[in-house]
Amino acid sequence: MDKDIIVGTGFSGMVAHLILGDLAQVFGSDQKIKPEHRNKGFRYNKLLGLRARSYTKLVNGLANIRIHDRLIQGGNGTIWGGFFNADAVPHDQLCLLKNSNISLVPLSSEDTGSSSPNEGICQLHFSNGGTLDPALVIQNINPAYLESFKILSDGSIKLKFQKSSTSFQDVLEICTRSRLILAVGVVQLIDLLYRSSYLNEGDVLELSEFKYAVRFTFKGFKPGKDAQIIKINILRGILHHLGIQYYPRIISLIDRFIPFVFEQAFYYQKLARMFTIESGKLVAIGEGGGSKFGSSIHYCNLKINGISVNDYLGDISPSIVGLGMAFIGQSIPGPISNDILVDAIKKI
Ligand SMILES: Cc1cc2nc3c(=O)[nH]c(=O)nc-3n(C[C@H](O)[C@H](O)[C@H](O)COP(=O)(O)OP(=O)(O)OC[C@H]3O[C@@H](n4cnc5c(N)ncnc54)[C@H](O)[C@@H]3O)c2cc1C
Repeated sequence: MDKDIIVGTGFSGMVAHLILGDLAQVFGSDQKIKPEHRNKGFRYNKLLGLRARSYTKLVNGLANIRIHDRLIQGGNGTIWGGFFNADAVPHDQLCLLKNSNISLVPLSSEDTGSSSPNEGICQLHFSNGGTLDPALVIQNINPAYLESFKILSDGSIKLKFQKSSTSFQDVLEICTRSRLILAVGVVQLIDLLYRSSYLNEGDVLELSEFKYAVRFTFKGFKPGKDAQIIKINILRGILHHLGIQYYPRIISLIDRFIPFVFEQAFYYQKLARMFTIESGKLVAIGEGGGSKFGSSIHYCNLKINGISVNDYLGDISPSIVGLGMAFIGQSIPGPISNDILVDAIKKI
């Protein structure tokens, strides 16, 4: 029996790897791979963070919708906040993280530079002391970019990878009868389906998120109950914005004397936006009331032509399992990594 194949080395790929261990091989793109498609419209980097590439066949024509792609080992996990709602995960499932040197650090102004009225929200750290980078947890990553896949008449899946090289000819083809676990992030999932001819011109896509705002406020200010709140110390917030994934003691000491914080509010109000493919370009349908979509960075629950992407992939092949934000219908606003963990354990 072939091993399962996990594609993606962000948080979702890491969870799949922790569940399957040696029963799966992990493939993931890195900064050296330069695939054939060179649109960079979804690229997202921070000034001092690890620099990631983004390559898509689809052009980004999404006015007022911000979705992004980070082709790097660790994915968004190289620049993320690491916030995780432990209360939303059954206790025994948390062992998957704890047994792999991942700590669930309670929020505190001194240690994490953050706090929340929801005591279940913590920050994931790895044994190196910084915010968890999923790529550090995964062993034996095969550096390769999944260009496309195809279901053959006998039900097996043919995968075409671009290997870690500058030449487009450096291709790896694999045919498998085992499971393909797609953990490639929202933008790459859409583009991969398009590259593989499982998405076509005129198809209608939809994403949703909880309304999000970030405010500058006093440390002691009591937030309302209409949102999940995470307060972040000013200097900690600036470091995070720059892409620095640890909180030096000296900065924590200075932060104590600053009476203000950034307040991230994830409201209980849901927003949804639709978009379509027109001449190889993703374009929004309607104006969306002029408001910007995607600012929570936890956009999720991808639907294709009104069908949940879970069912859509299931119709392509029952051997494909999808993990990550696209596959989650978040019920509580705030961190989404907890939902990804629970969903992965249920599916794998
Ligand atoms: C700045 C920022 C802060 C965030 N903070 C939080 C937070 O505090 N808490 C929270 O819960 N969530 C947070 N998020 C959301 C976060 O992205 C998700 O929780 C989670 O990290 C998503 O992980 P993923 O593995 O599904 O996707 P990604 O992190 O996007 O990883 C996808 C991986 O797949 C690889 N890949 C993509 N396409 C291919 C391909 N074709 N072939 C091979 N490999 C491929 C990429 O290289 C990457 O390694 C944040 C996001 C951002 C951008």
